[in-house]
Amino acid sequence: MSTDDFLAIKALLNSPKNIVIVCHKNPDGDAIGSSLALYHYLMHYQHNVQVITPNIYPDFLKWAPGEAHILKYDTQTAESTAIIEAADIIFTLDFNAYHRTGQMADILERSEAIKILIDHHQDPDDYATYTYSDVSVCSTCQMIYHFIDMFKDTVLINADIATCIYLGIMTDTGSFRFRSTTSTTHRIIANLIDKGAENDKIHNNVYDANSYNRLLLLGQALSNLQILPTYKTAYITLTNAEKKRFDFKKGDTEGVVNYALSLKGIIFAAIFIEDTEQSIIKISFRSKGKFSVNQFARNHFNGGGHDNAAGGKSELSIAKTVTKFSTLLPAYKKELELSYES
Ligand code: 5GP
Ligand code: MN
Repeated sequence: MSTDDFLAIKALLNSPKNIVIVCHKNPDGDAIGSSLALYHYLMHYQHNVQVITPNIYPDFLKWAPGEAHILKYDTQTAESTAIIEAADIIFTLDFNAYHRTGQMADILERSEAIKILIDHHQDPDDYATYTYSDVSVCSTCQMIYHFIDMFKDTVLINADIATCIYLGIMTDTGSFRFRSTTSTTHRIIANLIDKGAENDKIHNNVYDANSYNRLLLLGQALSNLQILPTYKTAYITLTNAEKKRFDFKKGDTEGVVNYALSLKGIIFAAIFIEDTEQSIIKISFRSKGKFSVNQFARNHFNGGGHDNAAGGKSELSIAKTVTKFSTLLPAYKKELELSYES
């Protein structure tokens, strides 16, 4: 962020404001963690702050400090609308294009509040009054840490803020293993532990909260795994019937695509999940090395994200979506071969 933008934001936040914090639809650990960390920080300065998510999030995030105060736009529309309409400032976190908020896109676009974007995805849209975008940072949560640091306020990071920031850094880095995890990330994590983030509890809350059905669904997903060695690619499918059989709940498929990527020699992985409610196939892409799934998702599946983790969607049937995917691969054969040397 430029110094001018920072000074302007600092001046804005100098007196109490009505502030709304929003994140993307189907919030993940980074979306919830960054929203709540910023919420706790701004509350410290007596602002009137409300976090509004477009819809619900998985049970394994329903312990984060402050989570109980979050409004969900899709089921609490009237209350959320009134608060958005009264907002002086709207922070938009962990996304960079209005459509990523689903049915909140219209009201955000109409709002005359000052918009402050904080996000680490590629190619931000130009909607915000102030844009703090950095694709080199592993998570929006780490950017919230840097944001607080710009105000020379890391001393205000208490156990609640530390826990929320830790949560999003942990989930967006695959527990500190992806390429985006830097020595700075580890230094910040060390500071957060010093400030009261209980790392073992946070890991337990997120990763050891499985239901029996979730593990059975994972079993089904793994038995559907297909490998295309010629293209160093593997993919998983899950139909609606399979999801129903194992009592699918939001968040149950999170991370499943990584099993496809964990195969030796595989550098490109995808999961195709039938979503009959939205009449789409929701797709997650993951890669290792230089092969950009952000570009692949943007070019072919109406999506985007990061170089090594992106998402998209398809309005074809699941079978036709998989055929489209497989048909695209030959054109990428060279790129896939050269992407990653172990
Ligand atoms: P996931 O596969 O976990 O849903 O998403 C991986 C990454 O891609 C996340 O950073 C997410 O924000 C982004 N992403 C997922 N789906 C979409 C999409 O439909 N459009 C865009 N632009 N980004 C997406
Ligand atoms: Mn993120």
